[in-house]
Parts: sequence; C-alpha cells; structure tokens
Amino acid sequence: MGMLMKIKVGFGFDVHKLKEGEPLWIGGVNIPSEKGAVGHSDADVLIHAICDAILGALNLRDIGFHFPNTDPEYKGIESMKLLEKVCDMVREHKYTVNNIDSTLCLEKPKISEYIPLMKKTLASVSCLNEEDISIKATTTEKLGFTGREEGIAAYAVVLIKKHGI
Ligand SMILES: [Zn+2]
Repeated sequence: MGMLMKIKVGFGFDVHKLKEGEPLWIGGVNIPSEKGAVGHSDADVLIHAICDAILGALNLRDIGFHFPNTDPEYKGIESMKLLEKVCDMVREHKYTVNNIDSTLCLEKPKISEYIPLMKKTLASVSCLNEEDISIKATTTEKLGFTGREEGIAAYAVVLIKKHGI
C-alpha cells in the first residue's frame, strides 16, 4: 500500500482594464507597453488568477475576500506579496502546490519572450517551483474586450496535494 494522498484542483480567473500610460505588470514582471493595467494593487492579472486558483483549491474563498480593494493596506501592493501570503495559507493547511497551468488573453504586446522571466519570478515565492509553472498566452482574434485592447484577462488552474488524509 502506498501512502495516501489528497489532491485538490482550483481554478482562477481575473480581468483588468487597460489604460495608456499605466505600467503593465504580468507574472511579477514589468513589461514595456503603451497601455498598462488599472487596479487597486499593481493590477497583475496573472498573479491574481493564480492566487484565486490556489485559494479555490484550498476552499478559502477568493483574493477579494482576503485582500479587499477597499482596504488601504493593499493600495498599490505588489501582487507578489499577496501570492506569498497565499503560499503561507497553503503551508498552514499542510498542502504543497503540484503544478499550475495558466493562459493570458491579450492582443498586445507580445509577451512570449517574457514568459521565462515570469516563471522565474513567480517561483521566488515559497510554494512554487519554476518547472511546475506553465504560462501560455493567446490573443482573442481581435474579438471582445481583450481583442479591442480594452482589457487583459488571465485563467489559471492549480493542483495541490498533501500526504496522509
Ligand atoms: Zn486582479
């Protein structure tokens, strides 16, 4: 008999509006772009989707519940710090993150060359490993709010596990 293991899946989704002159943070990386994401924090859509996926797997509500955008403590906060706090919750509940898969939806800029740095940056938090983070990107064929460059969206799924039930 092998050791029993509990696994749970989580899903996350996030959207931010794009505006000229704002910085564009994705996956903890500042990406040169005419338009950036607008939000209470640094508006990092990928990190927010990943946080929500992890919180979902833990069945601990969502990012807005833990870090309300009405709370001045979180105004302008780096999303990497929120991700680290979510990692703390993973550890507190005795889980580890098995892997993450994610997809970004944006028309431009092209972000393919930044994906390795995003993975490396995300892996600097305590619960993630670079080789277990997948980041994909797609346009939406000029359709919808992402296609019109009005916004950026991200989806993420995560698998968490713990030994012994
Ligand atoms: Zn967000």
